[in-house]
Amino acid sequence: MQTSDQPVLRDIVLIGGGHSHVGVLKRFAMNPVPGVRLTLICRDTHTPYSGMLPGYVAGHYSYDDVHIDLSKLAEFAGARFYRDEAKGIDRDRKRVRCLNRPDVPYDILSINIGSSPQVSDVEGALEYAVPVKPITGFNQRWLALLSRIEIHEGPLTLAVVGAGAGGVELTLAMQFRLRNELRQRGKNPDQLHFHLFDSAADILPTHNSRVRDIFRKALSDRGVKVHLGAAVRKVEEGLLMTEAGETLKADELLWVTRAGGPAWLRDTGLALDDNLFIKVRDTLQTENDDSIFAAGDIANVVNYPREKAGVFAVRQGRPLADNLKRMALGKSPRDFHPQKHWLALISTGDKFAVASRSHVHFAGAWVWQWKNWIDRRFMKKFTDLPPMEDSTKLPDTGAAINAEDASQAISAVAMRCGGCGAKVGSTVLSRALGELTPLDRDDIVIGLHSPDDAAVLRIPPGKAVVHTVDFFRAFIDDPYIFGRVAANHSLGDIFAMGAEAQSATAVATVPYGIESKVEDVLFQMMSGAVEVLNAAGCALVGGHTGEGKELALGFAVNGLIDPDEVMSKGGLRAGDVLILTKPIGTGTLFAAHARLAAKGRWIDAALASMTQSSKLAAECLRRYGSRACTDVTGFGLLGHLVEMTRPSGVDAELDLSAIPILPGAEETAAAGILSTLQPANIRLRRGIRDQEKWVSHPKYPLIFDPQTAGGLLASVSADQAQACVQELKALGYPHTAIIGRVTAQDMQGAIEPITLKD
Ligand SMILES: Cc1cc2nc3c(=O)[nH]c(=O)nc-3n(C[C@H](O)[C@H](O)[C@H](O)COP(=O)(O)OP(=O)(O)OC[C@H]3O[C@@H](n4cnc5c(N)ncnc54)[C@H](O)[C@@H]3O)c2cc1C
Repeated sequence: MQTSDQPVLRDIVLIGGGHSHVGVLKRFAMNPVPGVRLTLICRDTHTPYSGMLPGYVAGHYSYDDVHIDLSKLAEFAGARFYRDEAKGIDRDRKRVRCLNRPDVPYDILSINIGSSPQVSDVEGALEYAVPVKPITGFNQRWLALLSRIEIHEGPLTLAVVGAGAGGVELTLAMQFRLRNELRQRGKNPDQLHFHLFDSAADILPTHNSRVRDIFRKALSDRGVKVHLGAAVRKVEEGLLMTEAGETLKADELLWVTRAGGPAWLRDTGLALDDNLFIKVRDTLQTENDDSIFAAGDIANVVNYPREKAGVFAVRQGRPLADNLKRMALGKSPRDFHPQKHWLALISTGDKFAVASRSHVHFAGAWVWQWKNWIDRRFMKKFTDLPPMEDSTKLPDTGAAINAEDASQAISAVAMRCGGCGAKVGSTVLSRALGELTPLDRDDIVIGLHSPDDAAVLRIPPGKAVVHTVDFFRAFIDDPYIFGRVAANHSLGDIFAMGAEAQSATAVATVPYGIESKVEDVLFQMMSGAVEVLNAAGCALVGGHTGEGKELALGFAVNGLIDPDEVMSKGGLRAGDVLILTKPIGTGTLFAAHARLAAKGRWIDAALASMTQSSKLAAECLRRYGSRACTDVTGFGLLGHLVEMTRPSGVDAELDLSAIPILPGAEETAAAGILSTLQPANIRLRRGIRDQEKWVSHPKYPLIFDPQTAGGLLASVSADQAQACVQELKALGYPHTAIIGRVTAQDMQGAIEPITLKD
């Protein structure tokens, strides 16, 4: 996460991590504009590079070879990455509506969301065909097909609908790969049957006749049956019907037809063409909204209609970045004139490719090698990203927001006196918090619904109060997700005690900035937090918000408990087993993320784990009679275990091989990338018997790894353990594992209570 002393004055929001926006991010990374903040909203963390997709399907490239890691690229660019799907634009309020988070405000917006085959045009296609885009859906289906083929016996029929460049290339790539897979498994590749359908009279209609000849021959030589002039009319499960009445039974049906834009664009009021593509001017600004740009497949450049191809989206990256910058700096955007002819390099799946440019063509294995070189060089630009230690070291272009905005920022930021305890102004606060809907409870006498100097709570007879506090700095540039994690982390202590969460008071600091930006960050962060608190049945009853250098959030949380049912740290009994409900590794993963050394999907998995509540897990552990429980947080797994063994007067055995680990954490720890808290935690190694024996074990560093919103570590009697683990898994904690057992205290045990095993 990059921080800057420069307050944010303009928000440029990018929807979609397509080929143009990756170029925009790279350009802003190399030449940032002070005061301009970039936010990328994208459905997928890893976005495919279209040129290499058929090569991936054919088996020549790995998943990572052909995907750009947007989480890493955004981190490199100092941009915020919101993994979400846009589903609308409120142009009056200048906000992007998303599927899973509050609206995201923008000053300037850019859309690069690609296109998808129009499956809804043909009856049944939406239900029974697999569109090649979104690519994540196609990839899942493709991977499933690859696994299916391992056990499949007998003939297998695949039908591809759409014989443009994408459809032809995909058919040949799949045919090549699947035949190879069958051969490698000692099965008969001739069991595979491929059919390619198109309503047109010929394949590859936008390419010259020589190129078409080569591909017609390749398809025929490879046994692909081509059905031309065959418009598909209807699709049922495993069945396809054409207008002419021809039918085909198919095990898989792929859709690579004419593409279009998503239906939600209709409601934006943006000027669209018949295929729902956004009409843009030569500046890439939309026809009817100067503050919104579009590029790539989704844009219809009215004066320069072109084929939908990744090459155009890539080329638009530079002018788009320049024009976004110019708009942010108050200058007029410039026109961009795309090339008329373009070179298409279309492969046949078997490391052979054809180059096609207007009437010219050439073909050969060398063309594939050349294409491979071009494609890999392109990808290198987005994968070889040098870690940026400090955003202030980024080159300064000298460009800055205009004088009027700068003076607005100065009055908004620099004139802070701090005499008010650096509190956020009451108007900003009440506007940001006014939109939240914290839960109300009968036992809250005075809370946020009737604000006063302090909250007043009622304690039901026979109950005791559990009270805890946690506070920490943002570790990701996404206030909404950070708010969710912070609330979840704070609630962890309450659940670990076996209590019911009753109320929470928030303490937050928000970076200095102009009012609208401060208000939004506060709103996003508290929205995330309130959602989590509400789901836990916990009422937010008050708080304090100040301005500071960094975004930070914490909560003092109250819980209610029957004093006889406390799950304390000191309740371990020899013979019990130790259960851990979530995988560990968040410390090393986020240290690696900051150094651009973590894959985006590792960070996604860590965030999914950190935003999962431990409420159900705690209730389950209590049902199974757990008397000892703690949430694994800053001291790491070993630190928290020692905190339990000491007051319990027992020793413990920890099974390293059984400890669940987040994806990527072993790799980042092995690379020596560890949290700054790790050295303090590692002092506890003196509590491990024969610890020198274990230092080279790949999981050893992770038992010291500090966790944020980690899982519960609890003891359960041995006879209940398996059933308890099964129930925890069924409740949505799939990584729950028995990670060790509690043993009687050894004589030396007071100093070395922990024994490791593998
Ligand atoms: C099989 C096949 C092979 C192809 N081969 C080539 C080739 O060799 N060369 C070539 O030039 N073209 C090729 N194409 C065409 C090419 O794929 C597209 O033209 C290109 O991908 C368009 O790029 P884009 O930047 O517009 O969008 P995309 O590359 O499609 O990127 C769109 C991004 O937006 C995200 N997104 C979508 N909707 C939303 C939303 N609502 N909210 C947030 N994020 C969203 C997606 O997750 C994705 O990251 C091929 C197409 C196919 C089907």
